[in-house]
Amino acid sequence: MTRVTLLAGGVGGAKMAEGFAALPDVDLTIIGNVADDEEFHGLWVSPDIDTMLYTLSGRINREQGWGLADEGRRALDMLTDLGEDTWMFLGDRDFGLHIYRTQRLKRGDRPSDVTADIARHFGITARLLLPTDDRVQTRVRTLDGWLTFQEYFVRERCAPDVLELRHDGINNARMTGEAAEAIAGADLIVIAPSNPLVSIRPILDIPGIRPALQAAQAPVIGVSPLIAGKVVKGPADKMMTTLGLRADALGVAEFYGNLLDHFVIDTADGTLAAQIAALGIAPHMADILMPDATAKARLAQDVLAVFQAAQAESAA
Ligand code: GDP
Ligand code: CA
Repeated sequence: MTRVTLLAGGVGGAKMAEGFAALPDVDLTIIGNVADDEEFHGLWVSPDIDTMLYTLSGRINREQGWGLADEGRRALDMLTDLGEDTWMFLGDRDFGLHIYRTQRLKRGDRPSDVTADIARHFGITARLLLPTDDRVQTRVRTLDGWLTFQEYFVRERCAPDVLELRHDGINNARMTGEAAEAIAGADLIVIAPSNPLVSIRPILDIPGIRPALQAAQAPVIGVSPLIAGKVVKGPADKMMTTLGLRADALGVAEFYGNLLDHFVIDTADGTLAAQIAALGIAPHMADILMPDATAKARLAQDVLAVFQAAQAESAA
């Protein structure tokens, strides 16, 4: 058994998680992103964590990559009739989950425990951990001022240029004991092909997480979310450009820097390998597009092979 600890955001992260979950010889722990969380209609919504829960339990809407399959919008229509702002799509069954979470949080339960209980009820065998039980929320500065993450992402459809990002609450957030253990006890740590700026950074910047990753026995392997300078989906490439980063696999490698021991990039990006190696990060090429279950498991297996080869080399 290889104990894999995966740092992951929403859709891209969940694809990688599904790949590892499909491998019989992997014991998977996921540390998810809570910085997209926001309150809607009095309910606490945790989009990236829910994407992970819905994906790993097979309840996800496969076409969208988020939300439940077989959803309705009658609750949302009622809110619209009542004059509420309903740009954030929340499905009928999805509402049930947000009610459950909010009610538990109001009772004073730890967000980590609520998440673990939902995962258990859903029959998920991988562990889904939160990096912190404290509130961390991404804010996005555009020409029109600061927006919440969901205002930028959903209401404005990622159209405005991102001029600055901040993660409110992060400096005072405390890493969960579960996350600390999952990092220290891992054989292999993987950074999923998630948005580096708004999915992975709000995990890494929680005090204690970076030092824990650096102190861990396990090597850290990243997988690029960008292929040939483009995202598969979402605003990561555009965001990286407006924030002055290179919007390609090399830019992602530079962003993570010495946190990474290895970086898996697409075969289409072979020309960047030498520059990645010059950063002190070992580049590896694979087909990193994950359109289906087979591709997800194959990429997870490729990442595992990188780890096994590095182990064999250091033992020799
Ligand atoms: P979000 O929280 O739902 O935005 O999802 P993540 O942050 O986890 O992932 C978004 C990133 O996933 C985007 O930058 C995409 O380019 C990347 N992504 C999505 N599908 C794939 C895929 O099949 N392969 C790779 N390598 N990256 C992907
Ligand atoms: Ca997200």
